[in-house]
Amino acid sequence: MTPDTAFPEAATLDDIRRNLNVVQLRITQACARAGRDPAEVRLLPVSKTVEEHRIRLAYEADCRDFGENKVQEARAKAAAMADLDIRWSVIGHLQTNKAKYVARFAHEFQALDSLRVAEALDRRLQIEGRAMDVFVQVNSSGEASKYGLAPDAVLPFARELAAFSALRVKGVMTLAVFSDDTDRVRRCFVLTRALRDRLRQEAPDGLSFDDLSMGMSGDFEIAIEEGATVVRVGQAIFGARPTGDAQYWPGM
Ligand SMILES: *Cc1c(COP(=O)(O)O)cnc(C)c1O
Repeated sequence: MTPDTAFPEAATLDDIRRNLNVVQLRITQACARAGRDPAEVRLLPVSKTVEEHRIRLAYEADCRDFGENKVQEARAKAAAMADLDIRWSVIGHLQTNKAKYVARFAHEFQALDSLRVAEALDRRLQIEGRAMDVFVQVNSSGEASKYGLAPDAVLPFARELAAFSALRVKGVMTLAVFSDDTDRVRRCFVLTRALRDRLRQEAPDGLSFDDLSMGMSGDFEIAIEEGATVVRVGQAIFGARPTGDAQYWPGM
């Protein structure tokens, strides 16, 4: 995606507060349209590429959770802002050799899509004496360029997760197709929600599939209408990213 000038720059505390208020209002309005309680929707500000200074401003504006796509970037920020009680959420693809870092600094991991990563993360968490909230990532758009499990692979995968006692399974996460065609975007969310509903029925005891992490700056209202309980929003809070997103998603 190219940087979008529709996302207002946020350089000051006032800018960030204003953007947060606008996003929160849009969340409330989307909930109203869908007959939902806004308290059911958690806003996860996404701070990738955002420098420490502006993350500290967002913290001053009462943000406590921050989503980061890349482990290296997240880890450096967690170390630099260890004085703040931030809950870091890793929302991007993880390589097994980085699991040890995530097990140390992250509060949540939203992009679980392989048993190898589940094993590595669980083992590292056991060593650290911690547990972590995790979401299973679903490839709801069918694009080869997207990470995540194919929808029909998710239930068998979920059954295996019961073996990892340090992983607290919370739900599923997806990225919709990047498209101006809102019907196609909505279909990704509808599919993911249906899958989540099925997992709630059929997943092993002890795993909870209540949460549905879907929707970003460009599509979070559609996601809320289709049942999102977590929306991951970066640019609408912090302003358009100066760099392209190719480094965060394969094949863009
Ligand atoms: C960057 C990112 C987001 C947020 O995207 P914005 O366009 O900044 O709202 C959401 N989810 C994931 C996985 C991301 O990497």
